[in-house]
Amino acid sequence: MIPPGEIIGILGGGQLGRMIAMAAAQLGYRCHIYAPEADSVAAEVSAAFTRAAWDDAAAMARFAANCAVVTYEFENVPVAPLAALSDVPLHPHPHALEIAQDRLNEKRFVEDLGGRPAPFAPIDSAADLIAAIARIGAPGILKTRRDGYDGKGQWRIMRPEDAATLDLPAKPLIYEGFVRFDAEFSVILCRAADGDIRFWDTPENVHERGILARSTVPPSPPIEAQVAEARALAAKVAEALGYVGVLTLEFFATAKGPVFNEMAPRVHNSGHWTIEGAVTSQFENHVRAICGLPLGDTTLAARGVEMRNIIGNAAEDWAKLLSDPANHLHLYGKAAGRPGRKMGHVTRLTLA
Ligand code: AMP
Repeated sequence: MIPPGEIIGILGGGQLGRMIAMAAAQLGYRCHIYAPEADSVAAEVSAAFTRAAWDDAAAMARFAANCAVVTYEFENVPVAPLAALSDVPLHPHPHALEIAQDRLNEKRFVEDLGGRPAPFAPIDSAADLIAAIARIGAPGILKTRRDGYDGKGQWRIMRPEDAATLDLPAKPLIYEGFVRFDAEFSVILCRAADGDIRFWDTPENVHERGILARSTVPPSPPIEAQVAEARALAAKVAEALGYVGVLTLEFFATAKGPVFNEMAPRVHNSGHWTIEGAVTSQFENHVRAICGLPLGDTTLAARGVEMRNIIGNAAEDWAKLLSDPANHLHLYGKAAGRPGRKMGHVTRLTLA
């Protein structure tokens, strides 16, 4: 067990790290952020900040020497340099990163555990794409296997002819059949080192332009009916990975049951509502799990909860948002509201 007072290292300096650090502070821990960027909204609320490249082994080793445990808030942390952390516990195990960083590995891994992703094919050439469209059909989505997030690195293919006009990026790609879903949802769980697993209530997620716009709990009835199957798969994934910490799996609710979309080996945007909406938040339970503390209760703390993301210049409306006393406003302290950038979120509880 890592007792309060110790230092938790966090790889990645964004808002997820910021909210982990705030939960850690509540439990009496201090955080040390490691990130390559100069401006880190996580470092602003943490005790220490190492700004260094991911492959700076000396900086990584110095950082490790200062931490009692290390975690990550960014799923594209390169895995090879993490060898420099060998003297300190790292949770979740980087094997989870290796799988989640590559959409092809991720789909195969989940399929082997009995999950059902959209039909998919790896694409390395124009000929592969033509063959994949012939087999899977169109519409479909071509995605980069690595480094895609918030809808980046994705191209919709509406008709087979579209493949000919596409200038394929010189990167490993994956083609997925387009899923006709009724709704989207995520399963968010926390697993402790002793194998204890807790699930939060399932949020229904609405994306706009590939970015999460809002999460609502409880979800609509078609999702409720699919939660048990989706949770069983998420638990299998967590167990297969010997996972410690918060894990998220995203699903499409379809007429034929839950279709797996992707997994995130970390706290997740669709779980931000748990800060006010659950007895214990995803951030606090992540800290508890990686430090070997008992997990907190994940029960819903209201009749319903809605979380809306604040994207781009919508953050300028902070005064208007605060004029409604029921709004819990979270701003991440980011400088400029670039279009598509997540600047904060607002949570509202339904109490009566
Ligand atoms: P992703 O980054 O893969 O999670 O994609 C972002 C969003 O794009 C998803 O949450 C869906 O709304 C949509 N999307 C991605 N893949 C598919 C698919 N195969 N079929 C239908 N919609 C998709």
